[in-house]
Amino acid sequence: MLKTDTILVLARSRQGEADGIARVLAESGESFEVRVHGIFASRNRSSLIIEPAAKVRLVYYERDKISSAKEGQLLERYEDIKANYRLWQLAAYYLELTALAARQGPAPELFVLLEGVLQTLRGSEWAAGSLNTFYQIRILHLLGILGATDACNQCGCELRAYDTALWNFPEMHFNCPDCADVTHRRDALAAAWIHKAATRRYGRFHAGLMAATAEDDRKYLDERLHDVLTYFHGRPFISARGLYAEKSTLH
Ligand SMILES: [Zn+2]
Repeated sequence: MLKTDTILVLARSRQGEADGIARVLAESGESFEVRVHGIFASRNRSSLIIEPAAKVRLVYYERDKISSAKEGQLLERYEDIKANYRLWQLAAYYLELTALAARQGPAPELFVLLEGVLQTLRGSEWAAGSLNTFYQIRILHLLGILGATDACNQCGCELRAYDTALWNFPEMHFNCPDCADVTHRRDALAAAWIHKAATRRYGRFHAGLMAATAEDDRKYLDERLHDVLTYFHGRPFISARGLYAEKSTLH
């Protein structure tokens, strides 16, 4: 069946001499693979439509395994992000996280979330730590492994003051002080910020986080979130090599 969708390219690979296969995310939140015939053989700009992060109006034949592209119109290339190594490194990590979340099934908010984070990277109202923290929490939330942040996972008591909730690492569970195995000030801080990131827009989350936390605590939270995602993923994220220390604290 011939279909038209607006898609974001999450990853691409080469098949044979000339064909390319792109893993894409449609606006519906569905993720699928599409083959683009002869794309590496032609010398025109057509190969741009399967560049990672590209936003494309794609006309394709829907197939069971790998769909087949008929034509595509490049809507956005994020050239400015690609021209900056640091930004591109972050974007590549967000694409890989998005692909992980998309594999669990269609999530319509995923497209909006990814496009929002790419747009944010272009502006000046962000910091690498807080944007990573925000996106990692949202992905954990979509993956369904982010536990309730307002009730104790053990006894169910209400965690009214988030500063008394304790994160039972590596599970994303929050316990009251009576039920928690360990007491750690930074993990208590995490419960409050994880709750905020899951429920607020990035701008508000960022402003609050920067004003209320020390750099060390922000770094700690961001790295622990990365550890939990890596643990869930089962292997390191290729794109995160330059962003986080090689060795996870969980392995
Ligand atoms: Zn409890």
